[in-house]
Amino acid sequence: MGPPGGGKGTQAKRLQERFGIVHLSTGDMLRAAVKAGTAVGQQARAVMDAGKLVSDELIVAMIAERTCLADCASGFILDGFPRTIPQAEALDKLLTEKGVTLDKVIEVEVPDARLIERITGRFTCAKCGEGYHDKFKQPKVAGVCDVCGSKDFTRRADDTVETVTARLKAYHAQTAPLLPYYQAKGLLIVIDGDRPMDAVTADLERVLGT
Ligand code: AMP
Repeated sequence: MGPPGGGKGTQAKRLQERFGIVHLSTGDMLRAAVKAGTAVGQQARAVMDAGKLVSDELIVAMIAERTCLADCASGFILDGFPRTIPQAEALDKLLTEKGVTLDKVIEVEVPDARLIERITGRFTCAKCGEGYHDKFKQPKVAGVCDVCGSKDFTRRADDTVETVTARLKAYHAQTAPLLPYYQAKGLLIVIDGDRPMDAVTADLERVLGT
């Protein structure tokens, strides 16, 4: 859990590598659907571009289907889901049906004032997905990915100041109420995300008991 641009995706990818547990990002799934031009993608595109939330039904169906695949059998890291109380309730139901327990809910906390700068500067290698930032993490050789050498980079269509402002509004109105929901269940752990990436990763590994 955490606001847009708070570093959830970056950290979840690191945890996936560290623990060998699949990283499920509803945002990544939707972007893939938009790119592929599927019915789901066509439905989601305008909503995502406006910085609003896609319908609970669509998202819950997507997660229900995805978590049935074999790579989820030994657990999964959810990133960007649930984002509303109905999604959290649907997740509880889904996990009960699967006989799986939610081990931990981690909030990566970052003040709003830092997020616009973090989001609007970010870009990604189009080939391997490595993340970069105009100010905080430039490739070592300008225009060349450090990891795979590709010269092709992309920016998310919804990483503009206008859309980020709407996404933050949606986060506070619809997603933040999930924090007390999980706190009441004794599952919530809050981590300070306004620090260098490695410090956040170290904290995550500590709370995950490694
Ligand atoms: P993200 O990559 O997590 O920032 O998600 C990008 C966009 O995808 C969001 O601004 C929403 O429009 C949509 N989205 C991703 N996950 C969800 C979700 N769980 N519920 C509703 N909309 C979502």
